[in-house]
Parts: sequence; C-alpha cells; structure tokens
Amino acid sequence: MKRMIMHVHTSPRSRDATLAPADAVAGAKSAGADILLFTEHDIAWTRDELDRLAEENGSGILLLGSAEVAHRDAHLIVIGCDTALDLALPVNEMVRQVHELGGAVILAHPADLFFQITPEIASGWGVDAAEVVNLKKRSVPPGEWKNWLERGMGLVAGLDAHRKTDMKGGCHTLVPEWVETEKDLARALRERLVRAGQ
Ligand SMILES: [Zn+2]
Ligand SMILES: [Zn+2]
Repeated sequence: MKRMIMHVHTSPRSRDATLAPADAVAGAKSAGADILLFTEHDIAWTRDELDRLAEENGSGILLLGSAEVAHRDAHLIVIGCDTALDLALPVNEMVRQVHELGGAVILAHPADLFFQITPEIASGWGVDAAEVVNLKKRSVPPGEWKNWLERGMGLVAGLDAHRKTDMKGGCHTLVPEWVETEKDLARALRERLVRAGQ
C-alpha cells in the first residue's frame, strides 16, 4: 500500500495557514510519504498548479488536491469532485451529490469538541471515511474505532497541518498501490480500501 500524508493546509490558499507548499512537500517526503493530499479550506488546487509544484520541488511524491468544506454541521474533506457544492443543503444531500459526481467524502475530526459527531450520525450522512486521528484536534480513542468500522466507514489519519512544524512523520493513511489521481483516491475511499496507518 502507499503511505499518504493528508489533511494539510498551506498559505495562501488556506488563510489560517503559514505553511508554504514547498515546505509541505519537503516535510511529507522526509516523513516517508508516497502521497501528499492537500485539503485547503473551501478551495482545491487545480491539476496544473499541482503539476507545477511537483516540478519545482522534484518528483518522488504524488501531490493530490481536495477541499475541506466547512458546513455548519461538520467539516467535510471532498475528494475527486470539482463542482462547487451548495452549503445550504443538508450534509447527506451534499454527500450524495459528491458520490454522483464520482467523488468521496471524509468526515474531518469527528471527535472535535465543537462537533462531536457520532458514528450513527455520520453513517446516516453516508460519508465514506472518518478522520479518527487528527493531530491538532481531538482524535477518536482507538477503543472506539470499531464503532465506526461496524457502521461501514473507513478510517483515516490526518495531520491537520497549518505550520511547518506540523509536518511530522508517524501519522499517515494507507491507500492502494493503484491510486494515482484524485478520482482513484475517491474510488478507494468509496470501496473502503483505505485505512489509518501507524
Ligand atoms: Zn476542520
Ligand atoms: Zn483542516
């Protein structure tokens, strides 16, 4: 499987981040990642921008883009769907739209005290995976991971990096070897072939 470092915000695309994209790439490489998944707030990188960043920083790591969408009920990492979503819709309808467009949705930091989303609620929404490990907010205790798995969701681990010092090793998500694009990653998530690694 490939090791993916995910949930990374960079400046200037995420206004609350100071991490330079080049430092994110360097940090992910030195952490031994095969894939770096950017999750900017409400905006995704274009393929051209990612290719340019890869060129400028040498190859050796696959760069993928996604957007962390701030819905009033949850933060959702939307992958493989470039169409703008209507935030006024309930979460379950947004997730259904993303699926129809060939994408996938990760529920970001469900254990964050602000949201405290249960597996029951998340499975009702139809999200593909839950970010059970989040290095900046609260993580789901390992003893409760089975509750998410039993409800049919995959588990992922994210850094929620905003600064250079947030780019650490030891927290990654394992994805199938055939993942080369955002659409591939979305498919792997929908087919529950992704898991939190240690
Ligand atoms: Zn968030
Ligand atoms: Zn975030």
